Amino acid sequence: MTAKKTASAVLIRTRAGRAELFWAQRALARAFLGGFHAFFAGSKLPADASFVACAARELFEEAGVLVTRSGTRLIALDEDSALGVLRRRACTGELDFESELGELGLQLDAARFEPVGHWLTPPWLLPTSETAFFVVRLGDDDHGIFDALADHLQVEEFEVGSWIEPAAALAAWQTGQVFMTTPIEHIVRALAEDASSPGRLLPGEQEQAVSQAHIEIVAGLRVLPLHTATLLPATHTNCVIVGQSELVIIDPGSKPGAELDKLWELVDRLVDAGARLKAIVLTHQHPDHVGGVRETATRYAAPVWAHAATALALEGAGIRVSRLLDDGERLVLAGDAGGEHALECLHTPGHAAGHLCFYHERSGCLIAGDLVASTGTIVIDPPEGNMGDYLASLRRAQRVGARMLLPAHGWLVAQPERLLEHFVEHRLAREQLVVAALEQCENPAMLLELVPIVYADVPEYVWPLAARSLLAHLEHLVEQGVAGREGDRFWHCGQ
Ligand SMILES: [Zn+2]
Repeated sequence: MTAKKTASAVLIRTRAGRAELFWAQRALARAFLGGFHAFFAGSKLPADASFVACAARELFEEAGVLVTRSGTRLIALDEDSALGVLRRRACTGELDFESELGELGLQLDAARFEPVGHWLTPPWLLPTSETAFFVVRLGDDDHGIFDALADHLQVEEFEVGSWIEPAAALAAWQTGQVFMTTPIEHIVRALAEDASSPGRLLPGEQEQAVSQAHIEIVAGLRVLPLHTATLLPATHTNCVIVGQSELVIIDPGSKPGAELDKLWELVDRLVDAGARLKAIVLTHQHPDHVGGVRETATRYAAPVWAHAATALALEGAGIRVSRLLDDGERLVLAGDAGGEHALECLHTPGHAAGHLCFYHERSGCLIAGDLVASTGTIVIDPPEGNMGDYLASLRRAQRVGARMLLPAHGWLVAQPERLLEHFVEHRLAREQLVVAALEQCENPAMLLELVPIVYADVPEYVWPLAARSLLAHLEHLVEQGVAGREGDRFWHCGQ
């Protein structure tokens, strides 16, 4: 499979002898990397003759910065000129940018785009994408024009943007205020060390690098998706490594083998650099979350911590839980100069009786386990699963006010409150369909009679799983006095 091609432009200017870069926070509503800080970037179009042409077009579209041989200009989105029209067209559709500029008598200044390497996305992230990064240094004459750059960003793409000194940008990531992916962090760090030589910005010895398997989204919060036998369409469980001088591993879900080796390589490296693995911490006991727990605990002589109900469920699996965690408890890990890493435990039953979420206080990221998923769905399967508890847990997680949510399956999500609200509403809407189905039936109905009525909108192969969630809804309705039950039969309790 060929990699998707993208290009990115990093703007740099020098004021009073100090370099500044321009970065922006991606719109919170964007499905991929919403809320992360990044540079201007986008996919290569058929009309883009090169990566430079792509980077130049994205820079124009997203920021209004036009780099031509006759100078560098800022084109406002509402500008009443041929270039203003061109930018608005670039924002809404495909464009043969270089030809259209040519018709206006302008030519891109490709020489102003200094190549600083190609990055390939980590192996688990599909489709694979190759991003070419370029640095554009603004001339002394350009400064005044670009002071107001933040006011000219494409609003669908970005929340906010700003000029910032590279050292301050790096500090924002180190203290957990800003989320970044590996190439962005690499470039910011290299600029903080020495902003003048583009060679330092390359991904390594080579001009191209494959991103490592894990992403350190803020300093001391690493996400490593490991391949597990989980519920399709999800194929991975996010293993999370929290801390700096002291570490915990949350949910090492892969069985021993090549996948778990990726975790061990990372932890070995951190331990060699002086870190200490304090514990392995579990969100719950399902196999795709605990596959590598026993061997990892043995390898690092680390204890296992979990909720009492999880400990009980794991008794038969040869995993001994040595510390029981409960709602409200804080796990404090020694950090670096930026301070400690504290995780607040949230007891969030529903999917599993002992399910825990962990709120990373420094970054505002909620490590959510199987409370919700951004790929696939969460099954509420009685008697272990309980719909009433699950709805209360979604509400409980909303009250934390997290900035980012990291589910066990799928990618990170900004605006967690909105996602959690969506899942509450989704479950309540389904429950209304259950009530309506019960009302339709003249006689008490069997569970399997109700499935095709309540789940008419989902493919038939999903029905066996759907039947489990239906039972959870029915039990919830019985608890509320809305439905009656005798054995396998359910009925609506009239008004
Ligand atoms: Zn689970």
